[in-house]
Amino acid sequence: MIYLDHAVATPVDKRVLEAMRPYFADQFFNPSAAYLPAKKVSADYEAAKATIAHAIGAKASDLVITAGATEANNLAFTAISRESVDIFWGAPEVTTEVARGGSPVTTGRADPVPKKLSTDYRVLYLETEHDSIRAVAKRYGGDSVKVLPNGLIDLEDLKTKITDETELISVALVNNELGTIQPLAEIARLIRGVKLDRLKRGVKTQLLLHSDASQALNLLDINVSRLGVDLLTLNSAKIYGPKGVGALYVSHDAKLNPLTVGGGQENGLRSGTENVPGVIGFAKAVEIAKEHLNGNRKKYASWRKIMLSELKGYELINKKHVLDNFIVLCYNGIDAERLIFLLEEKGVYVATGAACAASKGVRSHVLKAIGLSDSEIAGSLRISLGETNDEEQIHQAARIINEIVSSEKERISHE
Ligand code: PLP
Repeated sequence: MIYLDHAVATPVDKRVLEAMRPYFADQFFNPSAAYLPAKKVSADYEAAKATIAHAIGAKASDLVITAGATEANNLAFTAISRESVDIFWGAPEVTTEVARGGSPVTTGRADPVPKKLSTDYRVLYLETEHDSIRAVAKRYGGDSVKVLPNGLIDLEDLKTKITDETELISVALVNNELGTIQPLAEIARLIRGVKLDRLKRGVKTQLLLHSDASQALNLLDINVSRLGVDLLTLNSAKIYGPKGVGALYVSHDAKLNPLTVGGGQENGLRSGTENVPGVIGFAKAVEIAKEHLNGNRKKYASWRKIMLSELKGYELINKKHVLDNFIVLCYNGIDAERLIFLLEEKGVYVATGAACAASKGVRSHVLKAIGLSDSEIAGSLRISLGETNDEEQIHQAARIINEIVSSEKERISHE
């Protein structure tokens, strides 16, 4: 098997698995318990959080551990002030009569009714964001910011869309379909200018910058101060750690509302018994990633070059400003979904768009946003290189892809 879909899932590194193993059975204690073995587990959990936090230039207390990046992204949006939150939570409470004439009891809320309070949007997000951002932003009545044909944020569009009502701007550090690296520091500079201007005019509305760094942590040296972000999402599943574990970095300027309430863990922002093995594994994955940051980038850059020189008859979609392990190719006139199926038969695993969208048969909103036509989108393949590969596999994959593409072209020419 030649697996070329590391942007969607990475296998758990063996060292990560080993680090996690004791915490499933021998060290099973609940970190909140009072006895010594539990306190030791609690200390290990905090140390693991500190490792993750230090990797992005933060402290353990700045992190909220979540069950993955989707949850971290959802949590980030609770930073929007109460008045705006009521856009979502303003749905009427549902009550049902208790049988045999008791008083009505509340059973929950009706489906959220997104009511727009004004024409100004409180949330801005890049139109190429992952669905976990697009969906939650829509709940808050968010508006999208355009990207340029090269996949980078259109800063002019951002400038015109920021109003005095804007509270949160969400831009992923690395896009999950193209691998485009956004100029976060530049966006942060622009935001600082807006905040200064608001201060001068006595406008008190907060303005926070959130970034989803799910795809970035194993290849970019991330530092929250350098990036200028207030909120940052991390994802263990993309860096050879366990799935279902993530974190949200929260600066002192951001005040969040919990998504779940209960025992008060994670500074009251994410109640529930800690996923100790998951966080220990996440920390180990972060440690390994940090150690090999530069080496891995160089390795992927060289494999990318080999792949692009050996493949034939494609157009490269993500040419610049991309993470080195992302290769997006367009074979115009060919059905990429058929290619994926044919490649799988030869043991090569690649993707079209984001896995969740592709599995629902939805065309990539990202490729659409950078201006590709429907037929170009239909002919686009994403290859994401990773640690399961070696150089020999890159040559092999290029040869197999060339063969399949050329036999498809041949087949189409006879239709
Ligand atoms: N954000 C980005 C950029 C992603 O690539 C993904 C996963 O594909 C997610 C969020 C969602 O991560 P999870 O499914 O682990 O919650």
